[in-house]
Amino acid sequence: ASRPHWLFGDQLGPHHLDPRRGGPDAQAPVIMIEARSVLRRRRFHRAKAHLILSAMRHRAAELGDRVTYVRAETYTEGLERALGPHTAPRRTSGDDGGAADTRRRGPGARLTVCHPTSRRARDFVQALDGVETLPAKGFLVSHDEFAEWADRGAGRALRLEGFYRWVRERHDLLMDGGEPAGGRWNLDHDNREPPPRARDALDVRGPWQPKEDEIDDEVRRDLDRWERDGDVSFVGRDGPRRFPATRREALSALRRFVAHRLPDFGRYEDAMLAADPVMSHSLLSAPLNLGLLDPAECVERAERAYRAGEAPLNSVEGFVRQIAGWREYVWHLYWHFGEDYRHRNALRHTAPLPDWFLDLDAEAVTANCLSTVLAQVRDTGWTHHIPRLMVLGSRALQDGWDPEAVTDWFHRCFVDGYDWVMLPNVVGMSQYADGGMMTTKPYTSGGAYIHKMSDLCAPCAYRPTHRTGEEACPYTTGYWSFLHRHRTRLAANHRTARAVRGLDRLADLPELLARTAERGDAPP
Ligand code: FAD
Repeated sequence: ASRPHWLFGDQLGPHHLDPRRGGPDAQAPVIMIEARSVLRRRRFHRAKAHLILSAMRHRAAELGDRVTYVRAETYTEGLERALGPHTAPRRTSGDDGGAADTRRRGPGARLTVCHPTSRRARDFVQALDGVETLPAKGFLVSHDEFAEWADRGAGRALRLEGFYRWVRERHDLLMDGGEPAGGRWNLDHDNREPPPRARDALDVRGPWQPKEDEIDDEVRRDLDRWERDGDVSFVGRDGPRRFPATRREALSALRRFVAHRLPDFGRYEDAMLAADPVMSHSLLSAPLNLGLLDPAECVERAERAYRAGEAPLNSVEGFVRQIAGWREYVWHLYWHFGEDYRHRNALRHTAPLPDWFLDLDAEAVTANCLSTVLAQVRDTGWTHHIPRLMVLGSRALQDGWDPEAVTDWFHRCFVDGYDWVMLPNVVGMSQYADGGMMTTKPYTSGGAYIHKMSDLCAPCAYRPTHRTGEEACPYTTGYWSFLHRHRTRLAANHRTARAVRGLDRLADLPELLARTAERGDAPP
C-alpha cells in the first residue's frame, strides 16, 4: 500500500500531489491537519484565517475519500489521530548527527511530505522519525539550482537583477534565442507612471471575484464561535471572500487577469488611487502562496499573451519580473540567509508598534495616505506593493519601530503573508534591518513621492512640501529625521550620500526635528 502523504495548508494545488513531478504516489492517501494552535499563536487578520481554512476544506472536499482531514490542537496530535498512536511518526531527540536523515528517507519512511515553506514546519517534519521530505513545489527554481547561481557570484551580494536574468535564460522565459525579448532585460522605466489625473479608477475590467458557498459559511460560523468562546482573537474585517480558495477559482482569476488586466499592469504598477486600491494588479499572490497556482503557468500565460500581441512587453516583462524574479528571489533568500535573519536589526530600531497600527485603526490617523491604506488592510488584508513599501513600511522605518514586530504585523495582517515571503520583504526590503544584504539602500521617501504617485495627498490635512508647522507632512519630516538619525551610515552609502548632503542645506532642520519629536507616538 502507498505511504500516506501529509499536505500542508499552503500545498493545495495539483502539482503538490503529482508523482511525475516528484510528488507522492498516485494512490497515496492524503492527510490534512487543521491545527488550532496555529491560529491561537498570533492575532491574524480574520479574512486570512477564513481564506486559508476555506481553501483547505475545499481541497479536502475535492479529494473526497482519499483524504483524512483532522481538526486537532497541534500537528503532533493531528498525526496521531490520522495515523493511530503506534504508526504516527515520533520526534527524534535532538541532534543525532544525521542518523535521523537516514531513517527519514527511502521506502522505510511511513509518511511523505513536500518540503514545507517555513523553517519552523521544516524543522518539525525533519525531527520526526519515519518521514520522507519530498522536494519543494510551487517555485520555478530548485534549492540546488539557486545554490549553483549563488556560488557563481561567490562573496558578492546576491542582487535581484542578476538572479532574474539568470532565471529568464535558464528557464527560457521571454527570450528570443540568447537575447531578452525586445532587446532589453529591464523595462522598469516604462512602469513608473503616476496614476491618470482626474480619474479615481483605472479604466480596466475589475478583478475576478468569488462566489461564496456553504464551506465558506461553515468556516465563518467556526470563526464566530471560536472568537465568542475567547479561544482565538482576530484583527480586521472579514467577508465577503475576495481571493480564490480552489484550483478552479484560481485559474479563473489568472485567466481574467491575463485577458483583461495584464495589458495595463506595467504602466501603473507603482501608482496608487484611493478609490481603486487594486488598479491593474493581479491579486494572485494569495492563490500562488496557497499553492493553488504554479508560477510557471502564470508566467507562461503572460508570455503567450505577449507573443500573440495581446499585451505589451513592458507589462509582460513587469509581471514576469515579479513572479520569476522577485517571488523566486525572496523564497531562496529566506533559506539562504538562515534563521538569524529574522532577528537582524542593523539600524537598532526598538520602538514598539503603536496600538492604532496594531488594531488597524484607520480612523485614528490624520495623514490621508496612511489612513486610506490602513483601512484597505483592515477591510481586505491586502494592498499592492507600493502601499506596503512606501506607506506602511516607510512609516515603520521612519519612526524606528522594532523590525521583528513589524514583520510579525505584516505576516498576521496580509492574506498572502507567510514566513518565507515576509522575512526578506520586511526585514530586508522594507526595514533595511539586514543592513543591505538584500537591497542597496533603505526604501523610504518624503511626501513628495506619495504625492507624485497617487491622489492621496490632495485631500490631506498635511502638505507634502511642508517640513515644519501644523501642516508638515509626517512622511516629509519623518524622511529627513530618518536621514539625520542614520546620517553616518547613509553618508557612506553612494546611493544615499546625496540625500544626506541635502540635510545640510535644510535651514529648518532643528524645527523639523522638534516637530517629529513632538508628534511622538501620536498617530500622524
Ligand atoms: P502583483 O503586483 O500583481 O504581482 C504579481 C506577483 O508577483 C504577486 O502575486 C506575487 O506573487 C509576486 N511578487 C511580486 N513582488 C514580490 C515580492 N517582493 N515577494 C514575493 N512575491 C512577489 N508578497 C506576498 O506574496 N506575501 C507577502 O506577505 C508580502 N509581503 C510584502 C511586504 C512588504 C513590506 C512588501 C514591500 C512587499 C510584500 N510582498 C508580499 C510583495 C508584493 O507586495 C505582493 O506580492 C503583491 O502586492 C501582491 O499583490 P498582487 O498579487 O496583486 O501582485
